[in-house]
Amino acid sequence: MIPFDFEYFHPSTVQMAVDLFQNLQRQGKRPMYYAGGTEIITFARVNSIQPGAVIDLKSIPECNVLAMQKDILVIGACVTLSALSEADPFPLLSAAAQGVADQTSRNKITLGGNISGKIHYREAVLPLLLANSRMVIAGTQGIRVTSIHKVFNQQMRLTSGEFLVQVLIDRDDVSLPFAYFKKREIGHVGYPLVTVAALRKNDEMRTAFSGVCAFPFRSAAIEQVLNDSSLPITARIERATGKLPASLLDNVEGSAAYREFVLKQTMADAVHRLERR
Ligand SMILES: Cc1cc2nc3c(=O)[nH]c(=O)nc-3n(C[C@H](O)[C@H](O)[C@H](O)COP(=O)(O)OP(=O)(O)OC[C@H]3O[C@@H](n4cnc5c(N)ncnc54)[C@H](O)[C@@H]3O)c2cc1C
Repeated sequence: MIPFDFEYFHPSTVQMAVDLFQNLQRQGKRPMYYAGGTEIITFARVNSIQPGAVIDLKSIPECNVLAMQKDILVIGACVTLSALSEADPFPLLSAAAQGVADQTSRNKITLGGNISGKIHYREAVLPLLLANSRMVIAGTQGIRVTSIHKVFNQQMRLTSGEFLVQVLIDRDDVSLPFAYFKKREIGHVGYPLVTVAALRKNDEMRTAFSGVCAFPFRSAAIEQVLNDSSLPITARIERATGKLPASLLDNVEGSAAYREFVLKQTMADAVHRLERR
């Protein structure tokens, strides 16, 4: 049960959503954009958020697009993880989507909600970081299109009232050789101990991680070391582990020491997989 009342809005255009947010904000209603609702409902049930209003983005047509338009794959922020893996326009993203939660939850969880969420993992962002995708963002100034690297730094950095409308990925990047490994302590559902996503483009390997630190990340320093083929793989992995952007996550999913052990194994698996192709 959610222990407080809130208003529910479902605008049918981008502009209506932006205007609603501003109006509700002015009225002191602490509005939140709402997509699959899985995280919002979980947090509301335990009273860790108390929005006075939610603005459901799922009726906005632009947020539901999933199509190749000319040479660009356009994915609406409200496309669910199930729909993404079923259509499979970007196999690395399908692999990431399929690793999140269970089928019933994936029928609700959206791409935009996953990458904008507050829980550490946000695994669907990894392929988007590797593909240097662009983000279509709506706000009071209209629509802006910007590199994911400008808006996603550990988490989405949107200004108040902005929301993610779509993600754009170049056609050339959706079919590159990839590796995706998600390691959990037990079972096939649930948050990761370590997730490693990797793509190979122009003989260079790109890597992104979730579960390792308290946020998902792609690191130029780690990629530089992993691509240094003058070193044996074990030395590359050792050096890459020394270049993590923050301390290793230590929580119920696993201790920092265990994560480090699993990370090294998983990085080696990814390097072997991509160097063999
Ligand atoms: C059983 C279970 C297991 C899970 N396991 C994993 C896992 O292993 N790995 C993983 O990464 N995730 C996992 N998740 C998913 C994760 O924890 C979140 O619940 C989910 O990603 C939220 O997506 P949503 O579409 O439901 O977003 P919502 O709950 O609707 O929103 C989440 C947040 O994003 C914001 N938001 C939503 N859409 C937009 C938008 N378009 N623009 C800007 N802000 C927006 C909301 O305001 C809110 O702050 C799991 C979830 C469940 C239920």
